[in-house]
Amino acid sequence: MKVPLLDLNAQYQTIKPEIETAISNVLAHQRFIMGPEVAELEKKIAAYCNVKHAIACASGSDALLLSLMACGVGHGDAVITTPYTFFATAGAIARLGATAIFADIDPKTYNIDPNQIEDALIGKGIYGSRVPGSGSRIKAVIPVHLYGQSADMEPIMEIAKRRNLIVIEDAAQAIGAEYKGKRVGSIGHFGCFSFFPSKNLGCFGDGGIITTNSDEYADKLSILRVHGSKPKYYHKIVGLNSRLDTIQAAVVGVKLKYLDKWSLTRKANADWYNDALTGAGLTDRYLITPYEGCSGRHIYNQYVIRAKDRDGLMIHLKKKGIGTEVYYPVPLHLQECFANLGYKVGDLPHSEAAAKETIALPIYPELTDEQKQYVVDTIKEFYQ
Ligand SMILES: *Cc1c(COP(=O)(O)O)cnc(C)c1O
Repeated sequence: MKVPLLDLNAQYQTIKPEIETAISNVLAHQRFIMGPEVAELEKKIAAYCNVKHAIACASGSDALLLSLMACGVGHGDAVITTPYTFFATAGAIARLGATAIFADIDPKTYNIDPNQIEDALIGKGIYGSRVPGSGSRIKAVIPVHLYGQSADMEPIMEIAKRRNLIVIEDAAQAIGAEYKGKRVGSIGHFGCFSFFPSKNLGCFGDGGIITTNSDEYADKLSILRVHGSKPKYYHKIVGLNSRLDTIQAAVVGVKLKYLDKWSLTRKANADWYNDALTGAGLTDRYLITPYEGCSGRHIYNQYVIRAKDRDGLMIHLKKKGIGTEVYYPVPLHLQECFANLGYKVGDLPHSEAAAKETIALPIYPELTDEQKQYVVDTIKEFYQ
């Protein structure tokens, strides 16, 4: 039996005629840049995330970059974020000449620990003079809702308010996730989403969108994504070319109708895994199951467990035809390109441990019962 980590074709087959109609509509009108499907999608996503505005752009990475640009982050500024995330989160900060300050995660949820944000702000522990960012003006914080589960937003918003920080939610993996009844992307000043194909709501290439309740930020973002031009060919600011293709908007528009169903099925798969792995006695002996996390809706973009001899397990599963992945093998504070920031091994121990111990299992909605059972049996086999 083969169980890939993700089977995009299985999903495509269930919605093929609708997708093809949506794409051929775009081919018929030929408005490939900022066609009507883009504005329609922005309306739908704003409603879905329960925010006033949504501004589509070329990727989740650009969503982060544009949000930082909209609040004027640049040289001499610092932004606090988690080291246990996809590179783009910190890449956006560095690209603007600002400094990323990494705050360690809560080992239960893998999301940024609000207490560590506080430490970074007051220069406690490793955040003394040694970390370069500590000399800069800390302007914003980027919590990441990793794997589809919201970060602990209440204390983060409290700290941000007290310290006058902008909060940019990296919700690239978490569209539709909720924290205490609020949709992610509606809690901070900005919410950044990605339509990368492997996200719960993916397009057929790159794409992204930014949510905000601020009229001013929404206006700024919509100008920044077209080279800072308003009206056309008149530039008060320098922006970039970062629009969502009309064809991609059409694809996402179709898929959005199914998103809740897909996310619920992912959750059901996760619950099933949790039971099956607990029942096998694996959780006590070898594995720590994920997330005793925040109260709210988890959309399971990834189902991640901690595993004893993680690399050995991964090789075993691969031999048996099961796809897995490590998100992420190197925490960002130890990436070569950030060596200048001065972090060393041991500085952020929870992120470093997670990078060594975690493994993502197949969780996509179209998984069959037989496939899930096969994954669990193969894990059991390894540990016996
Ligand atoms: C996918 C992802 C991004 C970047 O999205 P792209 O659309 O691939 O540019 C940013 N942050 C996180 C946490 C992600 O998972």
